[in-house]
Amino acid sequence: MMSSWGGADGIKSRTMEVFDSFGIADEVSKLWAPINSWAVWSEDDQGNISRQFRTTNSPPVRTKWGDGALQQGVIEKIIKHYLASQSSVSIQHETIPTSLTVEHTVTSHPDIYPCVVTLKRHQEENVSAEETIRAKYVIGADGAGSWTRKQLHLTTDTTRTNALWGVVDTRVTSDFPDLASSTTVYNHHAGGMFFVRRERDLTRFYIQLTTDEDDSLDRDSVTLDFIIDRIRRRLSPYTLSINYCECSMSKHERVFLTGDAVHTHSPLAGLGMNISIQDSYNLGWKLAGVIKQELQPSVLDTYELERRPIAHELLDVDRILFQFFHPGQFPNQDRSEDGARVVRFLSGLQIQYTPSILTLQQQDTNSLDQLTAGMRIPDVEIWTVSTPLAASANTSLLTILRSDGSFHVVVFVEHVDLFAPFEVALRRLLPPSSRNWNVIPICMRAPDRIDLESRMPLYCLAEAEDSHALALKPSTVAVVRPDQYVGWCSGVDDTKGLETYLRGIFI
Ligand SMILES: Cc1cc2nc3c(=O)[nH]c(=O)nc-3n(C[C@H](O)[C@H](O)[C@H](O)COP(=O)(O)OP(=O)(O)OC[C@H]3O[C@@H](n4cnc5c(N)ncnc54)[C@H](O)[C@@H]3O)c2cc1C
Repeated sequence: MMSSWGGADGIKSRTMEVFDSFGIADEVSKLWAPINSWAVWSEDDQGNISRQFRTTNSPPVRTKWGDGALQQGVIEKIIKHYLASQSSVSIQHETIPTSLTVEHTVTSHPDIYPCVVTLKRHQEENVSAEETIRAKYVIGADGAGSWTRKQLHLTTDTTRTNALWGVVDTRVTSDFPDLASSTTVYNHHAGGMFFVRRERDLTRFYIQLTTDEDDSLDRDSVTLDFIIDRIRRRLSPYTLSINYCECSMSKHERVFLTGDAVHTHSPLAGLGMNISIQDSYNLGWKLAGVIKQELQPSVLDTYELERRPIAHELLDVDRILFQFFHPGQFPNQDRSEDGARVVRFLSGLQIQYTPSILTLQQQDTNSLDQLTAGMRIPDVEIWTVSTPLAASANTSLLTILRSDGSFHVVVFVEHVDLFAPFEVALRRLLPPSSRNWNVIPICMRAPDRIDLESRMPLYCLAEAEDSHALALKPSTVAVVRPDQYVGWCSGVDDTKGLETYLRGIFI
């Protein structure tokens, strides 16, 4: 159920790229508050607070999106509008499952319906109807208390702490000098506090109320006034007045868990919603491909293989953040390696998936620049070379890789003439079950002539140096999965390698 207050607000670069691929990123970025800078304050031995440093928060390389903040309910509303506009999707509200069984002795064949779910639908006051349905697959995206997880007797990956934090969304007036920026204020005795600037002039405060070892505070005594009083004390001698307060993975390859249902952690990292969205993004196209009998059912094994390490990293990052804020430990130079790990993980751009049939990996890299199997394809500026159908315009590679379930074949060639023979070979190699292909020819330099008869848009790199940055060989082809991750990458003449990759995943 969507809430108009509370929940998540921080949105990271990779999530914005995912939104962009569905055409909803502009709507989100019209409403959000970009997080452009972050200040860090700390208290000295005399109890006075002062600024330690300030960083600008520019977008990482090879993406056009930085971080921003927008209330989770608004984000969910935008996603729901998008879903409602898709004729193939229908959403049934006021419905809860009451039983779930998987007849797992018969799960091996993709055509059977082994999941039996009883649903209770609310109809009108005190009236509800029950229905039992058989399904091929079930996804449990039902949050931290996941009913689905409990039915399957699955354990969850969890970080736990006794430390108590308060979270409050407010509109404030204050003479604190860094109010316009998102800021951390560290107190040696009491621990951490930080605030993030939000849309509609809101500010969200996160404040540590007790440490892990301290259980002296009765949780029932924590009221809104109590939290606000603690925030005021931490910012003293600066003043603060409150103007407005808003409030404060798979079984039998048939049932899948996403989001908080499978990884429970604190909201400190500001990542739960981002990772939940990316879990579903990873699973959705695989499941659709299997249901449409285009992809081998074994691609579903890669959901857990790819996303479980991310859930573990999320929990580790959560633990590191708890240590950062532990009284007496911040800022701690010894933790700079941990700090780098957190920063690397936060944007979501540096994830490299484990090798599998979907990711035939040739090399390990953490580079956001290089074209690497298992990593998202780096974003580069490109020009659409004009054809009778498309006027010349510049755009970015990720913007044209729309999320409609299609695989993309991105071909970087030095000269446009080199593309035609590859396209002929590709058409021969594409398996009959693979109906949706998006072939994108990109010239590494502007062509001296254009084929006005061509119906296929031709692109070229806007910056010639990008071909060096991407470490592109003269003629490189990348098969990009529907979720924008590179699945396979080699030279255009490696048709054998391409065939092996395609045969492994398509029926
Ligand atoms: C204060 C706070 C701040 C946060 N800040 C951030 C942030 O800045 N960035 C970020 O990425 N994350 C943040 N998070 C975390 C984020 O809100 C969660 O990780 C995210 O909502 C998880 O999404 P989900 O879809 O897995 O679960 P949920 O959002 O919990 O959704 C689960 C849905 O399932 C429904 N449901 C549950 N049980 C049943 C049932 N039995 N039958 C039918 N429906 C059911 C629920 O009604 C709900 O609609 C924050 C969380 C909190 C509390």
